[in-house]
Amino acid sequence: MSPEEFKRVGYALIDWIAEYRARLEQLPVMAQVQPGEIKALFDPAPPQRPQGFEGIQEELEALLPGLTHWQSPNFFAWFPSNAPLSSVLADLVATGLGQTGITWQASPALSEVEEAMMDWLRQMLGLPEGFQGVIQDTASTAALVALLTARERASGYAQNRGGLQAEEQPLTVYVSDQAHSSVPKAALLAGFGQDNLRLIETDDRFAMRLDALAGAIERDRAQGRKPCAVVAAVGTTATTAIDPVRDLAELCREQGLWLHVDAAMAGSAMLLPECRSLWEGVEWADSISVNPHKWLGMAMDLSAYFVREPQHLIRAMSTNPSYLASGVEARNYKDWGIPLGRRFRALKIWFALKDQGVEGLQARLRRDLENARWLEAQVRATPGWKVLAPVPLQTVCVRFEPPGLSGEALDQHTLDWVNRVNRSGQAFITPAMLRGRWMARVSIGAEPTERHHVEALWQLMRQAAEPIEAAPR
Ligand SMILES: *Cc1c(COP(=O)(O)O)cnc(C)c1O
Repeated sequence: MSPEEFKRVGYALIDWIAEYRARLEQLPVMAQVQPGEIKALFDPAPPQRPQGFEGIQEELEALLPGLTHWQSPNFFAWFPSNAPLSSVLADLVATGLGQTGITWQASPALSEVEEAMMDWLRQMLGLPEGFQGVIQDTASTAALVALLTARERASGYAQNRGGLQAEEQPLTVYVSDQAHSSVPKAALLAGFGQDNLRLIETDDRFAMRLDALAGAIERDRAQGRKPCAVVAAVGTTATTAIDPVRDLAELCREQGLWLHVDAAMAGSAMLLPECRSLWEGVEWADSISVNPHKWLGMAMDLSAYFVREPQHLIRAMSTNPSYLASGVEARNYKDWGIPLGRRFRALKIWFALKDQGVEGLQARLRRDLENARWLEAQVRATPGWKVLAPVPLQTVCVRFEPPGLSGEALDQHTLDWVNRVNRSGQAFITPAMLRGRWMARVSIGAEPTERHHVEALWQLMRQAAEPIEAAPR
């Protein structure tokens, strides 16, 4: 593709993307296809000759039924994964410049823009100066990196000897029973083993119980194991529950354990000074992950990973082949995570702030928190409806409990009405299990979602859930 052709096709595609964003409200939110339908649009064999880009818009249109529209104002499923148009441009520029960051030398600008942006982000989150940041692709990777680093620190860098396999005492990891599935997965991938992973009980607010954690650590020590790391959740997946970070941090310091704070979703809220008490004590964490690619709106994939003492991370992750030696004293991000190469993702932070400023981002987060509080109040005030968990942020967990329905029949009713909402195409919410029973989870915070969208959702939920006879005639 020549630069001239790139301009012609590129301008047309920018128009197409802009028009797609403008008509999102009209599209059914949840994808409408059956498995295999989209794949069938493609020839099984690759084209042998160039096909050109004539008609590319029509071909892309054919994919739309296979999209779940995360950027729709009526998207209330899993979590907001905002990709503002400023991010689209940043991604375009990143690929346009075709940079691959490995060492500082490979792209000084890529390295230093990332350093500068991570420090902006650190300040925006209210983290103290010592913390240093690096972009990881996802919070799942960040959790793995945290546990690998914790493993190496606790074992005195066993990787340089016989590794975990030669350790006499098994190392143990502690996470809440409400932790995101990526956290236990990271513990298994890091080689701790299921037998050394403790899922700690949570209280009636779904937060990790400190006494249960302390008890588990004590038992493990008594049995000759070596407690290694605690992963605290600030904003669990099901209900955005908040583990008691200050208490956990104190216990971890006392016991010499690594504390990783998984604030993938809720971390965005820390742009608001009024929310920071939620993770009070976080300055004592060893590592923290926050996903700007969720609610904050710096498009997938951009996960921020902060460490208090980078030397542990660097020691666990660094490699020094001769062809990468530059002789320059500068930060080499290859030593700050798993992959060697990295994209120029920090441009998305820069562009988001150019577009919105910190104040613009804060205003949007506050709008979403207010919308969640509005919905919570409606649910609480409506007979038969229940709010099932505290609403510290933008996720509201609800159930409609008609008289006479309980147990599996209630579960079936919940799944049925949530299904009706989702199949209507007018909104998309997520059914999820909480303490063994199904509920509906409404996650507010898509970039274009305004109050009237939440009002329409609430009406839709009531229509879908309440028996006909209960509706006003
Ligand atoms: C979304 C989420 C994750 C996983 O995020 P990825 O970046 O997709 O890996 C982990 N933890 C929590 C609390 C989350 O909300």
